[in-house]
Amino acid sequence: MKRFCLFGKWDLWLVAAALAAALGVYFIFLPGGAAEYVEVTLDGVEVARLQLDRDTEIEAGGVTVAVSDGEVYVKCSDCPDKLCVDHSPVSREGESIVCLPNRVVITAYSGEDPEVDADT
Ligand SMILES: [Zn+2]
Repeated sequence: MKRFCLFGKWDLWLVAAALAAALGVYFIFLPGGAAEYVEVTLDGVEVARLQLDRDTEIEAGGVTVAVSDGEVYVKCSDCPDKLCVDHSPVSREGESIVCLPNRVVITAYSGEDPEVDADT
């Protein structure tokens, strides 16, 4: 019976692993989920727009924003809390990283340029 219990445990792990994999696939291939570019604003004013397919690095308001492998993250910052640096990389539409002390907001977008219908 002990052996049976052991198998039961492994089955659970298998199910959990399968679920995690399915969930991962779901998130990776979510239609329209992947962002194409990010907008960096400083004090509410756009200072940069970065394509996620092009690795780059910019500095805005003491925050160094880096794009790498289709993700954007804060590489370093001179803010005291470093919450933006600790934030996990963003690559999905609508996600954002905020640095409150430096008033820098990084938001990911996909599809059409939001500038086009921003003021309607
Ligand atoms: Zn910060």
